[in-house]
Amino acid sequence: MGTPHIRILATGGTIAGSAGSAIGHGYRAGQVAIADMVAGAQALGIAAQLDGIDIAQVGSQDIGWPQWQPLHRHIVEALADEDIDGIIVTHGTDTAEETAMLLDITLPAGKPVVLVGAMRPADAVGSDGLRNFANAVRVAGDPAAHGRGVMLVMGDTVLAASDARKWATANIDAFRGYPRGPLGVVTPATLDWFGPADRTGNPARFAFPDRLPRVEILYAHAGMDEATVGALLRLDPAGMVLAGLGQGNAPRAVLSALAEVVASGRPVVRASRVDEGSVDRNVEVDDDAAGFIASRAYNPQKSRILLQVMLANGITDPARMQAEFDRR
Ligand code: ASP
Repeated sequence: MGTPHIRILATGGTIAGSAGSAIGHGYRAGQVAIADMVAGAQALGIAAQLDGIDIAQVGSQDIGWPQWQPLHRHIVEALADEDIDGIIVTHGTDTAEETAMLLDITLPAGKPVVLVGAMRPADAVGSDGLRNFANAVRVAGDPAAHGRGVMLVMGDTVLAASDARKWATANIDAFRGYPRGPLGVVTPATLDWFGPADRTGNPARFAFPDRLPRVEILYAHAGMDEATVGALLRLDPAGMVLAGLGQGNAPRAVLSALAEVVASGRPVVRASRVDEGSVDRNVEVDDDAAGFIASRAYNPQKSRILLQVMLANGITDPARMQAEFDRR
């Protein structure tokens, strides 16, 4: 294979951030244009043809539907372009797992689509941005990256979108995979996959929707009462996700109020506010009686994206919804 041609779609984030000082603490995300990042990468001697398009220049705390629509469209165009071997999305780390999840369930598993971010701005001493970017180029240009779904490259590891979770607020090693660990390890010069691609030829799981319905996340805590459920209902959400205690639990009054939400035709997914572990059906909570869906290995923010996409695709059968949460 010759030099790979990689399309870079930039959205901003700390990888494009600037502190104005190598030792500054504060900084602003999304300051560096993608042309400058590409020039920086090419100056390293990376063996790839890179072309970049700025989709947005924001911190990922401000990313949502207005950015996801053009991002998805540009990826679909790049997937159809025979001259392009792989796609990189530069992205802030705060919501990278949500964007990765949305793309993963609405794109076919063909050419590699790789999200990459950084924890330190581009001009900080010890910035991880250019290294992560060079690693992402290595992954996106690798023929063996095909058929693995959307991936996230951070801290010399490659994670599947469905597994990637932000774990730390500031360390450069900020992401972990759950329930699977990394798919592989990468440096700008080397790439080792831990197993073969497992999604080769798979079509998109769901159609990319025209809009995403409102789904709210309810954060559970000790001493909580059902008033918060009522407050969220006034926003008229199409569904709710519980960021529950332990295995997706909540005080009895809250669970009763959520069962009424289900009875009113709005699905409720029980997830957990705990960082690791699965939320399984009918352990302490009677999901069968209340009609809840258990999030299994998905955290609340990923569960929200999956629920939104299913609702937008007209999927409301509880058994089908549960099966989609069970699926890895
Ligand atoms: N707030 C930033 C963002 O998500 C943080 C980062 O990129 O690391 O864009």
